[in-house]
Amino acid sequence: MKEVKLAKSAGFCFGVKRAVDMVYKEVDIKDRIYTYGPIIHNEEVVNDLASKGVHVIEGRDELAEIESGGTIIIRSHGTSEADYKLMEKKGLDVIDATCPFVKKIHNIVREHSLAGEQIIIIGNKEHPEVEGIRGWCKGPVYVIENEQELENIVIETGKKVCIVAQTTFNYNKFKELVEIIEKKVYDIIAVNTICNATEERQTEAGKLASESDAMIVIGGRHSSNTQKLYQICENECNNVLFIQKLDDLQLDELASVRSVGITAGASTPNNIIEEVWQACQKKILENY
Ligand code: SF4
Repeated sequence: MKEVKLAKSAGFCFGVKRAVDMVYKEVDIKDRIYTYGPIIHNEEVVNDLASKGVHVIEGRDELAEIESGGTIIIRSHGTSEADYKLMEKKGLDVIDATCPFVKKIHNIVREHSLAGEQIIIIGNKEHPEVEGIRGWCKGPVYVIENEQELENIVIETGKKVCIVAQTTFNYNKFKELVEIIEKKVYDIIAVNTICNATEERQTEAGKLASESDAMIVIGGRHSSNTQKLYQICENECNNVLFIQKLDDLQLDELASVRSVGITAGASTPNNIIEEVWQACQKKILENY
């Protein structure tokens, strides 16, 4: 290995950093703290917070069961309006760490569905961010991720359609799906709600992968944005390694390659990226 390059956009985005900081700030001043779902797709951060007494509430059923009182932090993915109401009913002090970019989508779908429009969310229906967005719609709402799913929904063609995207969705795929919908429905408004942080990270990762002999993608196995980074890099490079932390990296596998690129998903803490980067640098020095 002779060269290693780290993507500038690797790691925590603004929204995730903000949410994690909000939890650590509360840990110092409050007693009973919950997060609604893991604050981040990163086991080490979640475990560290657990050791400081932060309990993860896994979903609505568990939320309904907890005793009244305490503080709950809504993560950057956001959640549905019904969940906010339940939290209020449970007497919880709600700290809203929903990313402002996601909050903007909640406002768009709420406003447009109240105006009588049909909503199409382009994204993964299982993803909590999408479930949250769906929970702010006041009328017909469809979630589609690909052409096949689009074929399976019955849109009222005479009624206006408002289209939004999950913030981590691939821009080109979003554009393709919007173009297909445009051919079916006369009156549409498509709002590109894909977050710049994601676009920038994806573009930079693709470019770096195309210039590198091997590419390391660091992030949680369950993080959808990290999985997407991996796919993008795989399209550009034949040797892509998906790791969660330094221990997963077999550095000897990279001994014979000339250049290595590193990127990381939005939930990967800086210290993990730094460790991988340092280990690669060390390997370069050993090779000299
Ligand atoms: S990826 Fe973008 S929308 Fe999602 S939390 Fe980060 S800054 Fe917010």
